[in-house]
Amino acid sequence: MNPFDYRRASSVEEAVALAKAPDAAFIAGGTNLLDLMKGGVTTPAVLIDVSRLALADITELPDGGVRIGAMVPNADAANHPLVRQRYPLLSQALLAGASPQLRNKATIGGNLLQRTRCYYFYDTAFEHCNKRAPGSGCAAIDGYNRNHAILGASSSCIATNPSDMSVALAALRATVRVQGPGGARAIPMQDFHRLPGANPERDTTLIPGELITAVDLPRSAFSRHAHYLKVRDRASYAFALVSVAAALDLRDGMVQDAALALGGVAHKPWRVPQAEAMLIGHPLDQSALQAAADAALLGAHPYEHNRFKLALAKHAVVRAFSVAGGIA
Ligand SMILES: Cc1cc2nc3c(=O)[nH]c(=O)nc-3n(C[C@H](O)[C@H](O)[C@H](O)COP(=O)(O)OP(=O)(O)OC[C@H]3O[C@@H](n4cnc5c(N)ncnc54)[C@H](O)[C@@H]3O)c2cc1C
Ligand code: SF4
Repeated sequence: MNPFDYRRASSVEEAVALAKAPDAAFIAGGTNLLDLMKGGVTTPAVLIDVSRLALADITELPDGGVRIGAMVPNADAANHPLVRQRYPLLSQALLAGASPQLRNKATIGGNLLQRTRCYYFYDTAFEHCNKRAPGSGCAAIDGYNRNHAILGASSSCIATNPSDMSVALAALRATVRVQGPGGARAIPMQDFHRLPGANPERDTTLIPGELITAVDLPRSAFSRHAHYLKVRDRASYAFALVSVAAALDLRDGMVQDAALALGGVAHKPWRVPQAEAMLIGHPLDQSALQAAADAALLGAHPYEHNRFKLALAKHAVVRAFSVAGGIA
């Protein structure tokens, strides 16, 4: 591991000021960053410890929404009564991730910024990885690409975003609150993570030095009919091959509103408002769900080893909504 300085911030303002140092990185739970540092994938010159900032509360917002502080551990968020009652989709997604020990340590802010699980990105023995070494190429496109993207990829990178939590946050139309050198701002989830384009080294639209302070969830009608379906190689402790966050506002058998996002298929949580819109105003049935699943995967482009993801993702969309709506 490269030598680095360590500074502990005692306020958000101090953290943002310290982050102006060259090659500075925030560290929260450290469950992703330390692995990356040990592998030489990232080599920050200074670590700014933000884990003890007063950002570990979960509070009700005046409009009926909920704010989750960036330092709230994943386990605490998943088990908090406000989250369990109002956002069971988020609770399920959090509990589908990692292991109990990791969820105790991993934070909401860190989870949003965890990096891809592309094997070529993690292993510095492979020299061709545009995300790790911009301009070096992409070993995955003609290599082993079983866990890679089928939607929104580019000729520079076909990596996926591995976060379960982010898929639920995208479906629930959450907002990420940040504080940076230019002040505070709020970023809608669909604009927070980015597609790789020609700059896959950038996972998000954050400006350098911006600190995530909280995630806001709007008032939700998705508390009764929600299901997070994670399809993976093992029943536990494995990243998603495909995941689906599905939720419905169902009244008298009619869909009033629908929420859908997919994980494991793109560089960002994949939200398709058109597929949601196809369900609204209709009774929930298998043919409507199949049509929505087809719409959600429109434009998919599988690679040599991940062709199975296309059918798997469609089946998962139908299954997740069927369970959410009680017609499975
Ligand atoms: C073995 C293993 C299995 C896992 N399985 C899953 C899984 O199945 N599903 C899943 O979703 N995740 C999984 N994870 C990933 C885990 O969820 C993340 O490692 C964790 O959420 C990261 O949170 P952290 O607080 O430890 O972040 P850190 O490691 O501290 O930081 C991660 C990144 O976020 C930045 N950062 C942290 N906090 C902030 C902030 N407030 N503002 C700005 N930048 C910040 C850091 O600079 C760093 O770049 C797994 C991890 C491991 C090690
Ligand atoms: S898919 Fe992205 S992360 Fe993986 S090798 Fe290619 S450029 Fe690197």
